[in-house]
Amino acid sequence: MADEKPLRAAGRKSIRPTAQPRDLMAEEDLAGVWTAQVITLFPQAFPGVLGESLTGRALQEGLWQLRTLDLRSFGEGRHRNVDDTPAGGGAGMVLRADILAAAVSQALAQARGQVPVIYLSPRGQRLDQAMAQRLAQGDGVILLCGRFEGVDERVIEHFGIQEVSLGDFVLTGGEIAAQALIDATVRLIPRVLGNHASTEEESFSSGLLEHPQYTKPAVWDGRAIPEVLLSGNHAKIAAWRRDMAERLTKERRPDLWRAYRAAHGLDPDEDQEL
Ligand code: SAH
Repeated sequence: MADEKPLRAAGRKSIRPTAQPRDLMAEEDLAGVWTAQVITLFPQAFPGVLGESLTGRALQEGLWQLRTLDLRSFGEGRHRNVDDTPAGGGAGMVLRADILAAAVSQALAQARGQVPVIYLSPRGQRLDQAMAQRLAQGDGVILLCGRFEGVDERVIEHFGIQEVSLGDFVLTGGEIAAQALIDATVRLIPRVLGNHASTEEESFSSGLLEHPQYTKPAVWDGRAIPEVLLSGNHAKIAAWRRDMAERLTKERRPDLWRAYRAAHGLDPDEDQEL
């Protein structure tokens, strides 16, 4: 960065733009700021990619904050054990209910406002844009990252923990899923994206996938940018983009297309013009 002046930000003193990733994580608590608390065996994996680019800058500026709770520190005995073998036998290890409960309780005790507790899990409700929007409107989130075979069911029941999945595949741990959820949510917090993007026009916000994008050079590899985009006619450009968005959605995501048609009062199964 050319400008080495410390950044000034609401609620913060001054933060150097060269701050190491770990310095981005809040020691002090910023009141009224959307806060993610992440319970994990791998706190060093945070902020990870969230420390880069727009989410990283917003973190530095105190537009949101991130805290990790090291699950290991709640562990038992000299080895700080957090897991044990599955009741009923079988492969792998399960994170213990009592250890997890101590971590969740601490996160709840230090949370402010309306903060759901979410366990990242392949069994959960699929993460989508609507969920990110709802979470962005709250005060933050407490995220529990599983490892090994997962967590003792009783802790989920006891705290009424919501399960959220990144998709129909199995990850090694919840950390990547937690970062995906935080990224999708934090970018919807006002001022995080600045002028860099419009969240209203992008995929899913309107119920459609986004139209294709182009930039210079005007011709590349013998392929020209669609002429209408260079016409300067904003109404025509908007109509072209909408048409492309509809076509793409219809082709690739019949499920979204049906929902979109229904939301616009059209028969989802017929294909008359919108
Ligand atoms: N035995 C479990 C999988 C455990 S994978 C099962 O079959 O359901 C280990 C951890 O990775 C989980 O506890 C969870 O926190 C995380 N994880 C795995 N896949 C995930 C997904 N699709 N979405 C969110 N988290 C996931």
